[in-house]
Formats: sequence, structure tokens, C-alpha cells
Amino acid sequence: MKKYFVAFGVLAFSVIIYSCSAGKYSSTNKVYKKQVKEYAKLLSAYPVKDSAGLPYAAEWTGTTNLSMRRPNFVIIHHTAQNSCEQTLKTFTQTKNPVSAHYVICKDGTVHHMLNDLLRAHHAGVSKWGNNTDLNSSSIGIELDNNGFEYFSEAQMNSLLQLLDRIKKAYNIPAANFIGHGDIAPTRKNDPNWRFPWKQLAEKGFGYWYDETVIPELPQNFNPLQALRIIGFDIKDTNAAIIGFKRHWLQDTTKGLNDAQLKRLYELSRKYQ
Ligand SMILES: [Zn+2]
Repeated sequence: MKKYFVAFGVLAFSVIIYSCSAGKYSSTNKVYKKQVKEYAKLLSAYPVKDSAGLPYAAEWTGTTNLSMRRPNFVIIHHTAQNSCEQTLKTFTQTKNPVSAHYVICKDGTVHHMLNDLLRAHHAGVSKWGNNTDLNSSSIGIELDNNGFEYFSEAQMNSLLQLLDRIKKAYNIPAANFIGHGDIAPTRKNDPNWRFPWKQLAEKGFGYWYDETVIPELPQNFNPLQALRIIGFDIKDTNAAIIGFKRHWLQDTTKGLNDAQLKRLYELSRKYQ
């Protein structure tokens, strides 16, 4: 009998512990689920009733052939915060509505905060090629990093595993794995210059130039055009150059010397 009570006590205690830990984000989880339900309703609301005055057919003919729209870019960030916990808090408050699909902590723990097919608020005002709504077409991945640190091995291992899954799931081309600083070079510098983009490119996530340095640049080489071909918004030339150097040269200084121009030329050829 005594044993029974002890066992019951342990059970009750574990239930309390479990509900406390599970409950930490239970109220914001509820908000997420409610919102997803609203979107599900929106998806089934066809035919659309709008006031555009179009001569819609009297009888609706729904197609049998459809699927969900898929992400086609992956944008990598550093959180510029001091802990994963701090970032989870930031992404679950509503006054500044920012979010990312994934947050990867320094110990490699992956937080999947919203479904890949939903739109997260991570890119902000940005442009890559002619894409201006990167939030609609991308998956955002935040790496816990204050902006001045290297990225831990456990974090990189989780990231590479995650990228592999995402690339296969949505058939994302190698060229479309980029950084926040690439798509918003006047506003952002993440992930910081320590991020190992070359390691990613070797695994098929992003492009890298050939390491052999060409003897001469072609006479008609236009560096701005090259940056544009890669995808940069060149409205602010200096910002685009700084963005290129951070990502592909691990360099945070301004301007391009001859050797760097050759790297730019080689890289732009990968995008043609
Ligand atoms: Zn960012």
C-alpha cells in the first residue's frame, strides 16, 4: 500500500513537472494553432467572392490538379541575440512581429517554429535578382549567434542536416541558399563574416568560385553587372560590394582590389 502511494506521488510530481515545462509556450502555441485554422478556412474558400466585378461563371469548376506553393529560397541569419531562449521569446511576442521557420541553438537543438509552407517574417525589405518578396518564397533559418562569434560545430551539423532535408523536400536550386546580408545589403550583415559559406557550397548549398586565380580579367568585365548577375541589388554600390566580400571573401572592408575582382568575375560565371 505504502509503495503504491510513493509511486502515485512520483507520478503526480512528474505530471506537474511535465505540464510546467510543456506549458512554457502553451499560450503562444494556441495563437499559432488558431491562426493556422483561419488560414485553412481561407484555403477552402473557393470560389473566391470578391468585388472586382469580374464575370465569373455561374457554376464553379474546381480543378483536380493542385498542390501547395513551395519555398524556393533559403535565407540564413544570425540572431544578433545572446541566447536561443531570448530569440524564442522575441519570436513569440506580437509587438514586433518577427519570426523564422527554424532557430538553431549553439548545442545543435533545432526549433521548428512554423510550417515550411507558411510565411515567416524574417527577410523584411529585401531584393535578390528580381524577387522582392523573399518572405513569400523562402525558408528562414536563424542561428543563435550574437554577430561577433564563430558558429559551433554542433550548430553547423544541425544546419547541414536541415539544409539537406529542405533542399530535397522542395527541390531548391544550389544558387538559392543565401544570407540575409545578401538580400538586404544596406540594412543587414548576417550571418557574420565568420559563417562558413564555402563549406556549404561544397555540399551543394550556394555557389563558390574556382580557387585558381585567372591571369587577366576580360577587358569588358563590369563588376556591377557581375554583382547584379549573382543577385545583388546594386542601387547602393558600396553596400553590394561589402555584401559580396562578407559572403565570398570573409572580408569586411570596402572596395575591390584586382585579385578580388577576379574572384567576383569567377563567381558571376557560376550564375550564368
Ligand atoms: Zn537576419
